[in-house]
Amino acid sequence: MATASQLVFLTDSRYTTQARNEVSADEINEYKIKADAVIELLQSLDVNKIGFEASLTVGFFEELKEKGNSEWLWVNLKDHLQRLRLIKSSAEIDKIVSAADLNEAAFNKISDMIRPGVKENEIALALEFELRKLGSEEKAFDIIVASGERGALPHGVASNKIIQEGELVTIDFGCRVSGYFSDETVTVAVGEVSNELQIIFNTVLEAHDRAINGVKPGIAFTELDNIAREHIASCGYGDYFGHGLGHGVGLEVHEAPVLSPRSKLFAEEGMVFTIEPGIYVPGFGGVRLEDMVQVTENGCRVLTKIPKMFRNILLN
Ligand code: ZN
Ligand code: ZN
Repeated sequence: MATASQLVFLTDSRYTTQARNEVSADEINEYKIKADAVIELLQSLDVNKIGFEASLTVGFFEELKEKGNSEWLWVNLKDHLQRLRLIKSSAEIDKIVSAADLNEAAFNKISDMIRPGVKENEIALALEFELRKLGSEEKAFDIIVASGERGALPHGVASNKIIQEGELVTIDFGCRVSGYFSDETVTVAVGEVSNELQIIFNTVLEAHDRAINGVKPGIAFTELDNIAREHIASCGYGDYFGHGLGHGVGLEVHEAPVLSPRSKLFAEEGMVFTIEPGIYVPGFGGVRLEDMVQVTENGCRVLTKIPKMFRNILLN
C-alpha cells in the first residue's frame, strides 16, 4: 500500500522472510486477517481517497468497504497501473532478456526431438523440463505445439497428436526469470513440406520482418499492425490472420500495450512487446512467428534469439 510519502507491504507469515529479502518498502507488516490489516493501516494513515486495482475480487472489495470508514472514497484505477508498466527500465529489460535467453537454450536442447512419430505433448513436456532445469521459475503458459492441420489453431495447446513427415510444427512457449516473462514462437518444417505451406511460411516471415523493421518511437500500433496485415492480405491470406500483431510482455506474459487494428497507443522508447503475425487455414495448417522487441531510440532491438527463417528438419 502506498501514499505519496510511504510504502507499506502487507503479507501473511508464509512470505514474511521472503518479503524482507526481496521487497523494497518502508515497512513490511505481517497480518493474520488481510482485510483487517488493510483497514487498520488505512485508518492509521488518515486517508480519505483510496485507489484500488481492478483485479481485486468483488468479495474482498465488499469486505473492505464494509469494514472501512463510510466516508472513504474508493477509486477503481482500472488500467492506470498497467500504464505505469508500459516503459521498462534497463534492469527490467535485463530480466526479460534472461528469460528470452532461456527460451533459446531450452529450444536448442529439444529441437532434435521434432521428428515424425513424436507426440506434440512429448515436445511440450521436454521443453518445459529444460526451461525449468535451466532456471525458469515457471512456464509462461501451457506450451503450444501445433502440427499439421492443428497449426490452424492459434492456441493449439500440445495434444497427443503424432507429428508426421511433411508437416509444419508451430511451438509457442515462454518462461519467467526474476519475475519477468518471455514469449516466443517458432515454426519448423518436418522434412519436405508442400509448396503452399512454404508460401504461407514465407508470407508470415515477410510480414514479421516488415513489422519489426517498422518499429520505432512514435509509430502508432495500428500502423505497425497494418504493416503485417497488409502484406498478408496482399498475398491472399487476409482472412486467415485473425488476431492482433502482438502484446506487451513484462511482469505478465500478456500486458499493455496491445498491438491490433483497435490500438490507441504509440510505440515509445523502452516498451517491450511481441511481433507475432500468423496465418491459420482451417483444415490445412498454419504458421506463426513471434519475437519480442524493445523499442530503442531509432528502431528496435530483438530480444528473442531463435532465428525465424524457414528451416527443414532433415530426415534420413
Ligand atoms: Zn507466444
Ligand atoms: Zn505472444
